[in-house]
Amino acid sequence: MSAARRFIATTDMTTRTHDVTVLGAGIGGLACAIACRLRGLSVELIEQAPALTEVGAGIQIAPNGGRVLDALGVRPRFLNSSAVHLIDGPTGRSVIGMPVGSGFRMVHRADLIAALAARATALDIPVHLNNKIMSVAGEGGTLITKGGETRLVTRLIGADGAHGVTRAFVAPDHKPTFTGQVAWRAVVPVDNWPREAQVHMGPGRHLVCYPLRDGRSLNIVAVEERSEWTVASWSQTDDPENLRQAFAGYAAPVRDLLARVEEVHLWGLMDHGVTPNWTRGRCTLIGDAAHPTLPFLAQGANLALEGAWTLAQRLDDPERWDKLRRPRVTRALAAAGANARNYHLSGAKRRVGHLALRVLDRFAPGLPLLGYRWLYDADVTV
Ligand SMILES: Cc1cc2nc3c(=O)[nH]c(=O)nc-3n(C[C@H](O)[C@H](O)[C@H](O)COP(=O)(O)OP(=O)(O)OC[C@H]3O[C@@H](n4cnc5c(N)ncnc54)[C@H](O)[C@@H]3O)c2cc1C
Repeated sequence: MSAARRFIATTDMTTRTHDVTVLGAGIGGLACAIACRLRGLSVELIEQAPALTEVGAGIQIAPNGGRVLDALGVRPRFLNSSAVHLIDGPTGRSVIGMPVGSGFRMVHRADLIAALAARATALDIPVHLNNKIMSVAGEGGTLITKGGETRLVTRLIGADGAHGVTRAFVAPDHKPTFTGQVAWRAVVPVDNWPREAQVHMGPGRHLVCYPLRDGRSLNIVAVEERSEWTVASWSQTDDPENLRQAFAGYAAPVRDLLARVEEVHLWGLMDHGVTPNWTRGRCTLIGDAAHPTLPFLAQGANLALEGAWTLAQRLDDPERWDKLRRPRVTRALAAAGANARNYHLSGAKRRVGHLALRVLDRFAPGLPLLGYRWLYDADVTV
């Protein structure tokens, strides 16, 4: 039985029994609970799901997030990535293969959650499963449960994601806007796929893929620009034919991959921006609750890990934590937005941009990633 399944669903949550209550047992919430426990605080987790699981998809952990996992003592099964390889989608021609050095890991989400859950179990952190919180009140110290009961907490960490109740409580007027992009995700079987993340770029759309686990499955995220809005949910399925149609103009390797897709999920990408304030009363937001991140830099979970660790060190002064952390998060979100535009270039801009990258590929393939050293080299655990 996996560690994630060893948790027992409890409904006997009593009042102000812990120093810290974390709402949401996703990547950010589990990491923050562990970090608080390692600081000697008593901590509990509340999660709406009946079991700690994740969707069947991958996630890239960059060195900045990996350092937090190391400090937490969490070691999920992963593959090391050797490069980020940019490819022109319609022709299939390589544009640049940027070596990433060590510390870039490709992980199955379920494996990451299982490793975090196993660590939480080892640290005796209680997880109240099957407990959906309907709202937060009373300056952030009061939770209203699905059964209508009121539960008081000493300090609340809102790790319940972009659509959670803590975000609604802390920043009720902050509404997302549609980015004009939708994304599909799928996993397909492969043989001997290179241990690298590939980005197949083209006008108005791009496709990212990388191998998982033993390298025999490939995680795919495909993005297309659209004018209409689609539901922002991870669980909406779509006809794989729609995905194949969207990339019908791409070269054979991508079309062959997409021919293998049997199940696909589709959702609209929303721009939430950084929530203007992360604390209200006893409640402080982390992860997607504080700053949902577009997937074009693969940093949402990495930033959630950083936030989880740093907030645990600064729980006595969350306003100060917010002030110190906000510039880095804002910069990362802006960098993610810029990537989407660069992947989707068309016409002369695309030709010139790809030519410049091909020149770099010959003489200095590592150069473009040097521009992200501020992001990847940071070690928030020291
Ligand atoms: C297509 C895609 C690809 C991505 N790829 C990457 C990547 O490669 N690298 C990366 O770093 N990031 C990536 N991200 C971003 C990353 O997935 C998120 O930033 C990260 O999962 C956020 O974690 P979180 O813990 O803050 O929130 P969530 O994962 O949303 O967890 C929230 C938890 O709270 C629970 N919850 C919610 N409401 C309630 C309630 N009312 N009561 C009780 N429990 C509740 C939920 O059930 C859930 O368990 C990607 C995102 C997308 C969309």
